[in-house]
Amino acid sequence: MSKISMWKASTSETNFPKLQTSLSVDVVIIGGGITGITAAYNLSKAGKRVAVLEALKIGEGDTGSSTGNLYCTIGDPGLHSIESKFSANKAKEVAESRADAVRFIEDRTLEYDIDCDFKKVPWNLFTEGNESSDYIEKEKEAAQKAGVITNSNICFPLPVTGFMVPNQAQFNPLKYVKALAENIHSDHCMIFENSRAVKIQEGETCTVETEEGSITAQYIIMATHTPLGIYFVQSSLAAYREYAVAVKLNSEYPAPGIFWDMIENEHYSMRVYDSPKGKVLMVLGEMHKTGQKDYNEECFDNLEKFLRDRFDVASVEYKWSAQQFKAVDGIPYIGLSSGNNKTYIATGFSADGLTYGTLAAMIIADEILGNDNPWAKTYDASRLTPIASASNFIKENLNVAAELIKDTLKKAEVKNFTDIQPGEGKIVEIEGQKCAASRTQEGELFAVSAICTHMGCTVHWNQAEASWDCPCHGSRFTQKGEVIEGPAIAPLKNINTKDD
Ligand SMILES: Cc1cc2nc3c(=O)[nH]c(=O)nc-3n(C[C@H](O)[C@H](O)[C@H](O)COP(=O)(O)OP(=O)(O)OC[C@H]3O[C@@H](n4cnc5c(N)ncnc54)[C@H](O)[C@@H]3O)c2cc1C
Repeated sequence: MSKISMWKASTSETNFPKLQTSLSVDVVIIGGGITGITAAYNLSKAGKRVAVLEALKIGEGDTGSSTGNLYCTIGDPGLHSIESKFSANKAKEVAESRADAVRFIEDRTLEYDIDCDFKKVPWNLFTEGNESSDYIEKEKEAAQKAGVITNSNICFPLPVTGFMVPNQAQFNPLKYVKALAENIHSDHCMIFENSRAVKIQEGETCTVETEEGSITAQYIIMATHTPLGIYFVQSSLAAYREYAVAVKLNSEYPAPGIFWDMIENEHYSMRVYDSPKGKVLMVLGEMHKTGQKDYNEECFDNLEKFLRDRFDVASVEYKWSAQQFKAVDGIPYIGLSSGNNKTYIATGFSADGLTYGTLAAMIIADEILGNDNPWAKTYDASRLTPIASASNFIKENLNVAAELIKDTLKKAEVKNFTDIQPGEGKIVEIEGQKCAASRTQEGELFAVSAICTHMGCTVHWNQAEASWDCPCHGSRFTQKGEVIEGPAIAPLKNINTKDD
């Protein structure tokens, strides 16, 4: 089964041109996910001349691999953690700003009559059985203090205990972002696909180059999920992969809704969707740090087992995975990056970024337009929060240091390319250089440098997705070494060697 998200497998492609010229605009936006396209909407509506550069197709980064849930609460680490690290007021700001962003999305679906299956549904957080958990009780209390309406009327086909928040929403994220792009595209709001930014220069005038064109602008927005290149904020971010499985059931489907089943301190997220293959139930979870799990196919197996243990599964229809970046203090970084005057960043959304990405676009557009935004300070990208972030900051940076040391000491996994079987990827040492060698299922061999072009860590084989993933900051590369996602900008160097 191909590992393409349900949304990508069932949504028709946009067809924007490739950048093949030199242009000058007010703002260049790198990345055409929900953050980039929403920022383009806001800025172009306000009269700015904008260009969006998307490396792939609109929405086909993380936006097109998400669950499509929109809610004012947050996932890990929860509103209660924001309250204990910062204050009850900060948790309230987070919930209110997120509610604003959900309303913004609903308004756009109405403004352009976007057919993206947007509907109001309840958000539910529970454990199975009759006993609540400490996490849920704390989260309920924090949500209520933040002004979020809660009740205990959870409607789910299994006995569960927890609370629900009415009036949240669900949609098809890919249909939404593609339709928004198609509606705003004009001479004043140019959108380019298959146009990867390969060189980015901030200055009095900023320049972004792609392979066949370039754009100069007054400001850059890095709407690339994590900023590309080396940024201070990367020491406060951790990259995780998470998995999704969508199945058909013989038994009763849950009603429309967002269902988070807490197992220990992580949640498995479930929802139903009327896909082109018929109604499916999806579950997302089994998170681990990018590039730090050897047999990650197991994550899909565990999700399937999770569903089979609870429902009568008829067939597995889709499997995919996606990346999330967690901020060490639990609050995203949105705005001018520290040390930059012209480059805006938007990152650290965890798995709540359809809403946070929309909010980021609202905040950044206001900052560029010189408008006050009530939430800008809450998410300030140049903030320092030593007390709130201390334990996670130390943990994540020790983890990066440990990966670097482990990689330096690590020996080659095999001696010869002939030791690599179809579907496998291994580190081989060629003339003292670490080489990431892999074979396709058909046996074709690819060999590239194993050293990540971002900060020099050794990439690890992701066997479920046939990619090379960096365990330090989450950059990912194809078997041929091409960048799949950043922060790396440059590909892994090709190693020209014969198949011995
Ligand atoms: C499993 C999972 C489920 C999730 N479910 C939800 C959910 O239900 N609700 C929710 O709110 N959030 C969810 N999220 C989080 C959400 O999907 C993301 O936070 C959000 O989509 C981020 O949007 P973005 O526009 O910032 O990034 P992206 O959608 O990743 O867009 C960034 C774009 O930048 C492009 N790009 C990268 N490098 C370059 C370059 N050099 N040049 C040009 N373009 C470039 C990429 O191709 C990409 O299209 C989920 C995350 C995961 C992992």
